Amino acid sequence: MDKKKKTANEMAIEFDGYPSNEGFARVAVAAFCTQLNPTLEEVADLKTALSEAITNAIIHGYEGEVHKIRLECKLEKNTIYIAVTDKGKGIEDIEKAMQPMYTTKPELDRSGMGFVFMEAFMDQVQVESRPGEGTVVRMKKVIGGQV
Ligand code: ATP
Ligand code: MG
Repeated sequence: MDKKKKTANEMAIEFDGYPSNEGFARVAVAAFCTQLNPTLEEVADLKTALSEAITNAIIHGYEGEVHKIRLECKLEKNTIYIAVTDKGKGIEDIEKAMQPMYTTKPELDRSGMGFVFMEAFMDQVQVESRPGEGTVVRMKKVIGGQV
């Protein structure tokens, strides 16, 4: 084993993209990040952002089919990093998809605000996607950063 001191703490889970598993994923991240002593508000922010990313994977990525969603989480110093990966249809134009009120599913009463919420509740949101291959949403939040 590497003798260098490890500074990060990581976890990963993979679950079927049933809407009913969204709550499980939220609780898993909330429980994992308690080590950073987050405030209730910070936990609520993380859960909201995570829900948006997972709902997107289920609704847009897999479009009603049930496939695996991977959730990775890393704690490093006072920062939490979250990545949500699906192997679904992917996004053609990421910049456009992230604009407020842009949605490709208005018929499902989607408002196109998911990415806006993720960006509002997290410090950084990055999206990587390839049409036909899938999408990774990476988010980062500093815990205890506000004075
Ligand atoms: P809302 O989140 O407000 O219910 P929405 O899901 O359409 O509506 P966003 O979450 O901002 O809005 O996503 C914008 C668009 O980006 C979606 O309409 C969809 O076209 C695309 N998109 C987002 N996530 C994915 C994904 N995982 N796979 C494929 N397309 C996605
Ligand atoms: Mg959405």
